[in-house]
Amino acid sequence: MKNIAYYNGKTSLIEEMTVPMNDRACYFGDGVYDVSYVFNHVPMAIEEHIDRIYRSASLIDIKIPQTKEWFKQMLMGLVNQVEGDSLILYFQVSRGIAPRGHDYSALSGGPSIWAYVKPAQLIDAYQSYRGITLEDKRFFFCHIKTINLLPSVLANHQAHAAGAEEAILHRGDRVTEGSHSNISILKNGVFQTAPLDELILPGITRAHVIRICNRLGIPVKEEPFTLREMMEADEVFFTASGALCCRFDTIDGIPVGGKDMKTFSAIRDAYEAERKKECGLL
Ligand code: PMP
Repeated sequence: MKNIAYYNGKTSLIEEMTVPMNDRACYFGDGVYDVSYVFNHVPMAIEEHIDRIYRSASLIDIKIPQTKEWFKQMLMGLVNQVEGDSLILYFQVSRGIAPRGHDYSALSGGPSIWAYVKPAQLIDAYQSYRGITLEDKRFFFCHIKTINLLPSVLANHQAHAAGAEEAILHRGDRVTEGSHSNISILKNGVFQTAPLDELILPGITRAHVIRICNRLGIPVKEEPFTLREMMEADEVFFTASGALCCRFDTIDGIPVGGKDMKTFSAIRDAYEAERKKECGLL
């Protein structure tokens, strides 16, 4: 198949799938999601993504009745039906189906499970990218991967309208993360990234980069950094499942980074090698 959609046990092409209007995802964005990229029909870090959606769900009081193993097998069943060597696997869990109402205590059915798989490419980690900075206007649920993404959508659109690829969000002086990525810097050979709190998503790519740094002997600092520290860093980069590890060359039109390509390339190349190994492409 060229793509596949899944909704509560039903499958079809994505463009042919219909869902009930009363699914709470539609009215409230009442759900959580996750995304992995798939190469050679192997989804990257699939267990970590499944763990995260169960964690995100439980943080918004949704209990997924199925086991993680069931979830994985269901997703693999979809992945295996789609042609192509490079795919995106998207999945979400919403609170369920009920007439619109804020309170969900009378909800009778279980959560709804959504997924799709379609061809997609990673962003090229061998190019450099442009960022803009914007005040972070999201609420304090940033560690939960909810489908409530309005501030991120608006910020990302603003970045593209300004000729950039990513919006770098900050609360006052403190850089939090990108509109759909984590932001990290290199300074004097040290990899620095924001600590895990309710202001950022615990990115799976971020976690892998930290492990790669540990392996390569690159010191890691999980501490907040300021806009100024970012602008003066040796390298500034974003990480996400759809990008792995990509560097900025301008932020707000000002040249940044370019002073430690050696360390950046070592991390990026190690990640690329890890991806190929995990997906049986070596
Ligand atoms: N932060 C935000 C806000 C994101 O949307 C994403 C991408 N989903 C990330 C970070 C990166 O997360 P991951 O590395 O798990 O894709």
